[in-house]
Order: sequence, then C-alpha cells, then structure tokens
Amino acid sequence: MTFEEIQEQDRKYLMQTYGRFPVALVSGHGATAVDCNGKEYIDFTSGIGVNSLGYCDERWTQAVAKQAATLQHTSNLYYQPMQTKLAEKLCTLTGFSKVFFGNSGAEANECAVKVARKYAADKYGKNRCWIVTLQNSFHGRTLTTLAATGQDSFHEKFTPLTEGFSYAGTNMDSVKENVTKDTCAVMIELVQGEGGVLPLQAGFVKELSAFCAERDILLLVDEVQTGVGRTGKLYCFQNYGIMPDILTSAKGLGGGLPIGACLCGERLGTVMDAGSHGSTFGGNPVVCAGALAVLDVVGNEDFLQEVGKKGAYLTQKLSAMEGIELVRGMGMMLGAKLKNKTAKEIAQKCAENGLLVLTAKEMLRFLPPLTIMVEDIDKGLAILEKTIQENS
Ligand SMILES: *Cc1c(COP(=O)(O)O)cnc(C)c1O
Repeated sequence: MTFEEIQEQDRKYLMQTYGRFPVALVSGHGATAVDCNGKEYIDFTSGIGVNSLGYCDERWTQAVAKQAATLQHTSNLYYQPMQTKLAEKLCTLTGFSKVFFGNSGAEANECAVKVARKYAADKYGKNRCWIVTLQNSFHGRTLTTLAATGQDSFHEKFTPLTEGFSYAGTNMDSVKENVTKDTCAVMIELVQGEGGVLPLQAGFVKELSAFCAERDILLLVDEVQTGVGRTGKLYCFQNYGIMPDILTSAKGLGGGLPIGACLCGERLGTVMDAGSHGSTFGGNPVVCAGALAVLDVVGNEDFLQEVGKKGAYLTQKLSAMEGIELVRGMGMMLGAKLKNKTAKEIAQKCAENGLLVLTAKEMLRFLPPLTIMVEDIDKGLAILEKTIQENS
C-alpha cells in the first residue's frame, strides 16, 4: 500500500484519536525505523519509551517467538511459570515483594488505586478513600486514571469522573493543604513525562515520602514512563533514595508488547485477595517472555551505567546546540526547549528529514531505545541540528 492509501484507510475506519505524523512505519532494526516507502528514520522515541531494546532485538524476538510457539495464552485460573518467573525477577531486582500484572500503564495505576483504597478501607473504614496527585501529572486514559491526571484539559466532557482525587502543586505546603484524615494515598511521577519532562526536586520527594510514612498514607509512584532503565537506574525511585509503597510499571517493560505491573511491599501484598482484582490477559506468557528478555538486558548494572552515560552525552550535545534554550530530564528521558520555534513544528520537520522525536507541552521530548549506539545518537543529533538551522 502507498502512504496515501494507508492514510485514507485510517481516516475511513479508525476513530481519529491521534494527531499523527505523516509517516507509516512498516519495519525496524535497532534504533532505525523504516516507512512504507523504504525511507529510514533514526528513532528517538522508541514508541513512547516502549521498545527499550530497540526494534526487533534478537534476544527479545527469539524469546517471544519461542513462547508463542509453545503456549500463547492460558487463563489466570491456572499457574503459569513465565508469569511467576517475571514476578520473581521484578521483586528480586527492585526490593518489592508482590506483583499484579495487567496490560497497560493505566491498568497498573488502576490496580494501585484499588490496593490503596482497599488497604485504607480495611484498616480505617471506607471514608479514607481520597488520593492526592500532582498538578500537571499524567496517569492514563481510563476514567479513574483520567481523574488522577492533574490537568483539567483531559477531564472536559468526560465527567463525571471517578471521585476522590485532589491535585497538589509540587511543594510540601500544597500537599499538606490537600491531605485530610480521609487521604489514603499520594500518587506521583518522579519525572512528569507528558507534563513536559519535569523532574521533581529531590528534597520535595524525600520530605513527601517521610510525611506519608508518618501518617500511614501510601506513596504511589507511577513509573510507567520512568521505569525499566529509562533514567539510568532500573527504576527512577532509586535515583531519589526513597522506597515507594506501590510502584507501577508498563511501557518499556514489555519491550514492545502490552504489559502493566503493579508492585508493592510485603505489608500490602495481601490486601488484594481472591476475587478482588483480575485480568484476562494480564501476565500473558508471550508478553512475560518478552519482559524477561528485557530485564535480562536492562536489569544489569553495566548496562544501566551505559544508559546514564549516553543520557549525559545526549544532554551535553543538546545543551550546546544552537537554537535550544534549555535541556532537562534524567538519563535517556530528556526534553529540550527551543528558542524560536514550537516543538510541534520542529518535530514535524525532523520526521521529514529522517528523525523521529516526540513532544510534551512546549518541549521536544527524547526517549531513544536504551540500546541505541553512540553513532546513531550522533546521526540523530546531526538531523536535529540541521532541522533547527533550516527553520530558524
Ligand atoms: C503512558 C503513561 C501512562 C499510561 O499508560 P498506558 O499504557 O497508555 O495506559 C500512565 N502514566 C504515565 C506516567 C505514562 O507516561
């Protein structure tokens, strides 16, 4: 099919929920994506932080293909070794004790909300159901995770949303104003991704963690975007020296297949009992085989150090680039603010020139595959520099 045919079919048969780039991707290898005309792109997006090992990594592809040809699915009414292996690996690598598997970031967050509410309901009664989240946050598209998302623009016309959320600024005074005796949890992203690649201040996070612990308020950390090596640690909380009560992971965990995971410590591990939560596809064996292949690579200290180094390199090169005003983020989750042009405009032009980049609010956003080689980083940076120059 030609690009025009694909575009026409999309317009005709799909709900038009996405503002798409005029690009139709059909294959990829490493950090290179290939479109329907055979044009190649350096990919600084990894499918919004999903393809952690890049396109079609040999180790990942083999693990997934082998499992698909062995047992593609079984109901969660039966025990399943791929799922138990992945849960063990996640717990061993993070210090958490129990996992629930769903199929997306939003579902992982839904599980986190349910665990927090049930914990508080069991212990304090059903009124203690309120959750404080942060302004400018993003937690997903289901009605509950939309409610958790602290941006009004996402809520309009979808009300009534799930009740029980309030939104604090990223400082302790504002959090304290929002917390009441009925607060069961505080939910945060350590680097707000969709909100514009905004890392939270270490002092604020530490203080918040201690504040919650004192009051038996659970600290929920949404690591759907920051997790699985993205920030140079396996999970971003390890950069902050805190231990969340509940952590959610998705995007990069599956390496390209849908997965969501909600992790908690020992004392919350028994809050959810038989029948209180579930998922048909959650922890599917093929998906778990893929995630195990991802963690075999990413859950390795040398690999994570490389991610940190490549992130620092990218930060330094971006900061020095003409036309870029500021760079922020952590590891290989980075945002750059442009001096004269809008991020949307430059992202479009980059695609024309053979580089895929994302935007978040007014920022250009970079989430390259964690396995990207320095020469591909350089190629991508050269295209970006040229694009900024052409459009200045
Ligand atoms: C992407 C994202 C989500 C939603 O994940 P889905 O898999 O699209 O449901 C939730 N939280 C954060 C921080 C995200 O970046």
